[in-house]
Formats: sequence, C-alpha cells, structure tokens
Amino acid sequence: MKDLTARMIGVDEALGIVLRETSVLPAESIVLESAAGRVLAEEVFADADQPPFAKAMMDGFALRSMDVTAAPAELEVVEEVPAGRMPTHTLGEGQAARIMTGAPLPEGADAVQMVEKTEPAMGGRWVRILEVVQAGAHVAPRGRELRAGQRVLAPGDDLTPSRIGVLSGVGKGTVLAHRRPRVAVAPTGDELVHWGATPKPGQIRNSNGPALSAACRQLGAEVLELGIIRDDAAALGECLRKGLASDLLLLSGGVSMGTYDLVEGALDREGVEIFFRKVAIRPGKPAVFGRKRNCLVFGLPGNPVSSLVIFQVLVAPSLRKMQGGAMPQGREMEALLEAPVVQHTGRTSYLPGTLRFEGESARIQPIPSSGSADLPAYSRANALLVIPADRDRVEAGEKLRVLPLD
Ligand code: AMP
Ligand code: MG
Repeated sequence: MKDLTARMIGVDEALGIVLRETSVLPAESIVLESAAGRVLAEEVFADADQPPFAKAMMDGFALRSMDVTAAPAELEVVEEVPAGRMPTHTLGEGQAARIMTGAPLPEGADAVQMVEKTEPAMGGRWVRILEVVQAGAHVAPRGRELRAGQRVLAPGDDLTPSRIGVLSGVGKGTVLAHRRPRVAVAPTGDELVHWGATPKPGQIRNSNGPALSAACRQLGAEVLELGIIRDDAAALGECLRKGLASDLLLLSGGVSMGTYDLVEGALDREGVEIFFRKVAIRPGKPAVFGRKRNCLVFGLPGNPVSSLVIFQVLVAPSLRKMQGGAMPQGREMEALLEAPVVQHTGRTSYLPGTLRFEGESARIQPIPSSGSADLPAYSRANALLVIPADRDRVEAGEKLRVLPLD
C-alpha cells in the first residue's frame, strides 16, 4: 500500500479511497430546535391521521351537497364553527353551519361553499348559497395527508425546514441524527498573517483558514481553528497532535516540492497512514490524504483556489458521508457549455463557471480566471466545469459535467 502513494491517481479513484476510509458518525438524540441541516438516523411514523378530522379548507358554510343541487338555495344556519373547536350540531335537511378554515366539519355535512359564493338571508340566521356545490368541495377528509402508523421519514433524510415541520406535526420533538463532524483547520505558511494584520513585505493574509472553516461549517461541521502554523517541524508536530483528536484535520499549504513543504514529513512522524499524495486534478495536484485511527487528514495545496477545489471534490463528500447523508458523491450534473474552453490534457480540470437554467436545459458559462491563485474570480462561480483529462479543447454547445457549488 505505502509505495503506491507516490503514484498520481485519478479523481474518481481518490474519491473512492476517501469514501472507503470515511465512517458514518454515531447518532445522537437531538431536539427539533437544533435539527436543521442534520441527517436523520431513524424511521419516523405518523402518530395519528393527518388531518385528524375532516376539515374545512375555506371560510364559508358547511352543508349537505344534496341540499344545493340547484342554486340559489337557502339554508338555516345552526351554528358557527371556528378553528380549534368541535361542532355541536349534526346537520339535518336544509341546514348549514358557518365554518372557518381549519375547523372540523359538522356531522352530516359533506361540503363547504366559500363565503364569497353566499349571501346572508333573514338577517344572517339563514344563508343563500349562490352556486351549486359538489360533495367533498373544500373539505380535506380525515387522513388525507397521512394515515396513523404510516412512515413519514427514513434514515438518511436531510432535515430540511419542511421535514422539521413534518416531525413537529407528528409530535416528534427529539430525533436521532448523526453527530456533527468535528473538523480542525490549520493553514500553514511562514508568509501568512491574520486578516487583522497589515502584511509586511513578503507576507500575505491567510485566506485559506477562514475560507475552509466556512466551507466546513456550511456543511454542518463544528470547526476548531488551530490558527496559522509556521513552516517548522516542531510547530507542525504540535498542530497535528491537537488536530488528530478531531474527526477530520484539514491542513493547507506545505505539500508541494519546496524546501519548506514539511507537512508530509510531519504526518509520517505522527504515524498518519498516507493513502495518496498526488491526484490528477487541476488545480490541486499535490493533495495528501491519510488517516490515523478515527481521524482523516487532508493536506490541501496552499493556493486558495486549489484548496477550495480539493475541498469540493474530495472533502465535502467525506463530510457528507460522516453525517449519514445519502449519495455523498452524487452532486455532479450535466450542462451545455456556452463558450469554448482550452486546457492542457493529463489531469481533470475544474474551472469556475456560472450555471443557469433556461427552461429544461442547464447552461454553464466559464468565468475568466488567471488560475489557482485567482480567488476573486473563483468567488463569482456558482459551479465548476469539469474538463476531462483527455480533452485539450471543449467546444461551445458540448455537454459537460459540472459540479454545483453550494
Ligand atoms: P504552498 O502550497 O505552501 O507552497 O503554497 C502555495 C501558494 O499558496 C503560495 O503562493 C502561498 O503563499 C499560498 N498560500 C498558502 N497558504 C495560504 C493561505 N492560507 N492563504 C492564502 N494563500 C496561501
Ligand atoms: Mg507554504
């Protein structure tokens, strides 16, 4: 295994290894208030029919449709039923009840005529129905949406706002969801300063740390920021010992071939098993991936665009799998290219683009960029074009794989 790691491997092979080494995190019981964005780890069933009673879907009059086969028809109003209250009368022949949206239908009634199609008669004690109503009109029968005992959600379902509404609707206030991944983020480089500092000659601000932390948080992770790590074996060793207590450690910089690229040596010394060191991807060829016990480690390239591309392609699927998400690798789609793109062959290229939808068709426009350091250009992208490794030119109008960015 070890000697294979010097080989440059394809993107799909790299992703396969990453997902193979990624374990789904255990489930924990959480309250609905903190469930947004988590992934469900249990089956959930309806506790009762929904709606629990036949209910009015309009403000108007509950009636017996057989009494209004011709219009206008005059009916005696026997009561008023607001939402939240049970009716007290059973409707007999020629009777109606004033009813509000959401209120239970009285016994005997089988339809509602909306208030706009009625007018009061006899000072409001009767109602004139101005249009014929069919049986069932504006009525939601009991159990129309859900039957008691029916499964409403399954393991792997993302807890979206609407699903949190569903859980609340079936009285499920706590659910089992996979634990959030704990990710340690450590940008490395002697040239880096915090954004709050004025860079001295030769220095630059650390953009990877905040960008990668934000990317992790957006995917549901809890982030431990280890701060800027110097290009120094002792500092790196200390950083690794702290970071390896997480589920995932993200380092950036220090993985190319320079004299100060010390990350791989430090990983070896800390006993991290390395699975690959080079991926046939542009930008981002030097991308190290390993594991020590339950902690996955990524050594991402230092160039800001490279590190974010590797994050999207390899790290994001891993974070998704950890949280029990369905189809962690299934985010790519197809789109029509709107302008030709010229590339070197040999590696799969990921280029910034603007994805939009025109009717049924997805279209992507490349964004001009100077390359792996052009974070401003990358920041305008909402998707990445995926140029296959064997293509040096892709024409306008061709169908291309694209990776939407969240
Ligand atoms: P390295 O991979 O350490 O050789 O870095 C490659 C390039 O990325 C160099 O130009 C670095 O200055 C730049 N770089 C490395 N780390 C960061 C960072 N955290 N933020 C912005 N640029 C970085
Ligand atoms: Mg460096």
